[in-house]
Amino acid sequence: MEKKFASHADVEEKRISFDKLSDRAYAYTAEGDPNTGIVVGDDAVMVIDTQATPVMARDVIRRIREVTDKPIRYVVLSHYHAVRVLGASAYEPEQVIASRDTYDLIVERGEHDMRSEIERFPRLFRAVESVPGLTWPTMVFDKRLTLWLGSLQVELMQLGRGHTKGDTVVWLPQEKIMFSGDLVEFGATPYCGDAYLNDWPETLDAIAALAPAKLVPGRGASLTTPADVKAGLDGTRAFVTAMYDHVRRAAKEGKDLRTAYRETYDALKPRFGHWVIFDHCLPFDVSRAYDEATKFPDPRIWTAERDKEMWHALEG
Ligand SMILES: [Zn+2]
Repeated sequence: MEKKFASHADVEEKRISFDKLSDRAYAYTAEGDPNTGIVVGDDAVMVIDTQATPVMARDVIRRIREVTDKPIRYVVLSHYHAVRVLGASAYEPEQVIASRDTYDLIVERGEHDMRSEIERFPRLFRAVESVPGLTWPTMVFDKRLTLWLGSLQVELMQLGRGHTKGDTVVWLPQEKIMFSGDLVEFGATPYCGDAYLNDWPETLDAIAALAPAKLVPGRGASLTTPADVKAGLDGTRAFVTAMYDHVRRAAKEGKDLRTAYRETYDALKPRFGHWVIFDHCLPFDVSRAYDEATKFPDPRIWTAERDKEMWHALEG
């Protein structure tokens, strides 16, 4: 029996939480669906990752308006994935900020990624017809950008490659609060289809070196103690390392992709199979790991067609 493509069987709506981390920082989370971060400065609000559509973003705005009436001036894209960026227009921001690497990825593969992601996970693109097109950054930075929202210092940092080439974290040094994007997940399977698996653990080291007291992961509950932050970092590292190790070994032994997938799936399922989107992610994750372990240092573009071919080859 062939598994339904990607997340076509995932139709159950999640419960949303709006967590207060400090007077300056909030998190909109949804039981493993993509999170949005909110930073409240002296006279402006910053939103980190937008939700997948403008209609979905309106629910974030409604929650923001329960805690502040300051204007939403900044939208930060932690990376280029459609499910995080296509709701941006709802906020009517003055600036959409991204790393240069993220901007370059939108230019190179944004259209393909949008079509592929919408087909993979229909539930996460509620009212997809409200998406006006790609989200284009209006401000692009190299490696690091400091913003002062009045007295609040906000650091946008590219600490290294991991989930994508352009990963950006948002760090509030005065509050020791971090928004990590998909570099860190909690109770949710890391998607590695566009990843740099060899680099990812070092980037997690760089996050840990800042010693966040609280961290909002890309998916999963807000981590509100140093012990929880450590659990999020450790869990993400354990998955990324174990997955890549299994695939790399299989590739070195000359096994084909399908065999590497079967073996890696069986090895990881007992430990990580309870994390949300495990069955969705694994075929994409193993495909990318096999590529990186063999002859593709950079992730290949996923098109809607390549998605389906890969899925049929591994799950058919
Ligand atoms: Zn992502």
